[in-house]
Order: sequence, then C-alpha cells, then structure tokens
Amino acid sequence: MDIKSINSISFRTLKEPSVEYIYQLQLYLHFFQIKQGVLLYVNKDTQDLKEFFLEYDEALCRQLLDQLQELGGQIEVNQVPARLEEWPSNGQCRYCQYKEVCSMVGPDQVSWDEFKERVIKHEESIKNGDSKKRLLS
Ligand code: SF4
Repeated sequence: MDIKSINSISFRTLKEPSVEYIYQLQLYLHFFQIKQGVLLYVNKDTQDLKEFFLEYDEALCRQLLDQLQELGGQIEVNQVPARLEEWPSNGQCRYCQYKEVCSMVGPDQVSWDEFKERVIKHEESIKNGDSKKRLLS
C-alpha cells in the first residue's frame, strides 16, 4: 500500500490515480514481488479516503526499468536528457519545479557543460534586463 495525501479540491475531482504514482507503486510491487497493491489517497483536510487497487504489470515495469537504465546511461556520459515532448503543457511539467530550467535549455538532450552554459547565459540575460517572458517563448 502506498498512501498519498492531497487537499480537498484535488480529492473531490480525483477519479483515477496519477500516472507517476501508478509507476511508483508498480515498481514497489516488482521489487517486493507482490501481485497486487493499493494506492490510498487521503484527503488531508477531512481524512476521507479513496482507494485504487492495482495488479502487478510486469510489462510496464520492464518498460520503466528500461527507461531508467537509459537514463542512467545518459547520466554516466554527462548528458542531460531531452525534456518531455509536451513541455510545458504535460501534466508532469505543470507543477514541476524545473519547468523554467527546461525553458532555458531547450527541447533536446544536451551535454552537462552545454546545459550549465545555457543556464548561465539565461541568468545573465535576466541581470541585463531582458524579459523572462521572451526567453520562455
Ligand atoms: S518541466 Fe519538469 S517534468 Fe517537464 S520536462 Fe522539464 S524536468 Fe521534466
């Protein structure tokens, strides 16, 4: 079981668990070799509960582990992965604390050195009075 606490507004409209929580729970099931899990959402304002039962999905876990392996390979060779294709409208991006960083770096995979250079250039342009909005476009 994995427990997530959310506010009343999100709780009221919750029909299905978030995809990232599904992935997280699936990997728990995979590594602990459990066939079924529960995502339990708690309304932190009222303590109401909503539960979602999930069956272990081996194919999904293999896919997730392949993606993680690919990510590990990129990190080992100092490559920053490409941002998500639907940035910034992707649900993952909307509340992501790195959304602005992704706007500075651009859509493609870049080397760590190039990544740092782009962030520094962006910061310098801000200091020089350029509009953030221009850089986000
Ligand atoms: S904004 Fe966050 S979730 Fe979206 S691509 Fe960038 S790092 Fe990934």
